[in-house]
Amino acid sequence: YQKSKDLLDRASQVLAGGVSSEFRKYNHPHAIFYTHGEGTLIYDVDGNTYLDFTLSQGPLIVGHSHPKVLESVETYSREGQLFAGQHIKEIELAEKLHQLIPSAELMRFCLDGSEAVQTAFRVARSKTGKNKFLRFEGHYHGWLDNVAWGISTPSVEALGEDDNPHVFPWSAGLSPNSKDDFIILPWNDLELVERIVAEKHAELAAIITEPIMCNNGCIVPNEGFLQGLRTICDRYDIALIFDEVITGFRLGLGGAQGYYGITPDLSIFAKAIASGYPISAIVGKKEWMDEIVSARVIHAGTMNTSNPTVAAALATIEVLEEDPDTYNRMFRLGKKLKDGLRVAAQETGQNLFVQGTAAMLSTSFTSLPEVKNYRDTLQADKAKLGRFIAGLHDRGIRVIGRGLWYISAVHTEEDIDKAIAVGTEVLKEIR
Ligand code: PMP
Repeated sequence: YQKSKDLLDRASQVLAGGVSSEFRKYNHPHAIFYTHGEGTLIYDVDGNTYLDFTLSQGPLIVGHSHPKVLESVETYSREGQLFAGQHIKEIELAEKLHQLIPSAELMRFCLDGSEAVQTAFRVARSKTGKNKFLRFEGHYHGWLDNVAWGISTPSVEALGEDDNPHVFPWSAGLSPNSKDDFIILPWNDLELVERIVAEKHAELAAIITEPIMCNNGCIVPNEGFLQGLRTICDRYDIALIFDEVITGFRLGLGGAQGYYGITPDLSIFAKAIASGYPISAIVGKKEWMDEIVSARVIHAGTMNTSNPTVAAALATIEVLEEDPDTYNRMFRLGKKLKDGLRVAAQETGQNLFVQGTAAMLSTSFTSLPEVKNYRDTLQADKAKLGRFIAGLHDRGIRVIGRGLWYISAVHTEEDIDKAIAVGTEVLKEIR
């Protein structure tokens, strides 16, 4: 990895931190630099090839550099950069999402997930006339001020002020008010949500949740939990916001809401909807999105919906739709990988815990029989996970540093066999 090491030295002269914080803590002696990716493969500057299960943090649902996406981006780019949302392709994309996503009566496009989350918050505040939000431990909703402070924060309500270790080194510079915007509760505990909302509903504009807790542990909702949130929000005039930045297009073209059959008031789609080109959508029921129609809520952005990003989204949808078996196949591969790694853990006597659903899964090392919430994830052996991920990496398998694996529409049975075989080898070695 000498070339990567040299590049990190070079980068550190001009890029703050050399690489982004996510990769600074990547489980390797130093950051690795890559040259390009194609399909399920990615290549580093030192000549190594990797089978990629990071999909660039999720977006590359049809793999790296899909020819149809590239072709479409090129074609539309030649039409000129039609900014500010006044072109036919934007309408076409909106019509398509309207068809696919159950709650998408109206929508607007932004550049990324974090921005779209903020738009949802404004809409919720504007319509309800209330100010606070309820969010859940271990969920991630972007890095902007009023959500960033609590990325992985156990709740004050649950732990009490004294026992709440939520001052993170990177929280310097956040708005001092941002902490007061949120009530944070453990996820999947409907009774607790009911109790707290009954007390605080007069202040609550919205409940925001990842429909599957993907940012810590890939934990699915308890039976009835999402429906319970729906009922509570209806009872107290609170917006139910699904943050589908990860689940959107990963659980199907209708996102988790289509998959679970629960319709939120507002939701956010990003990552996979355009194969990593910068576009996100805030979608919702008309009665909520009318806050934007009436211009009570500002929605703006010079770069929103330029031709290439809309083209990337339309092409991604086309690729995902063209084979009716796409999602079944991805889900099958996900299950195969999950089962294979579980067998590998048993055979090697390792306390590797594998869970997840559809085409994503999470690996951690824990002595707990189950990982059911964020606090369980805190008990996992992160150092050992680091050794596992680094071991996989050194044998040509790339996985997200916190143990998350994403499967794309172009991964094959052979890819999964390879991942299981390599995973088994690494498990035999690590302590
Ligand atoms: N919400 C969730 C659930 C996410 O996983 C992320 C990004 N990982 C975001 C919001 C923020 O999206 P972006 O990075 O595109 O701003």
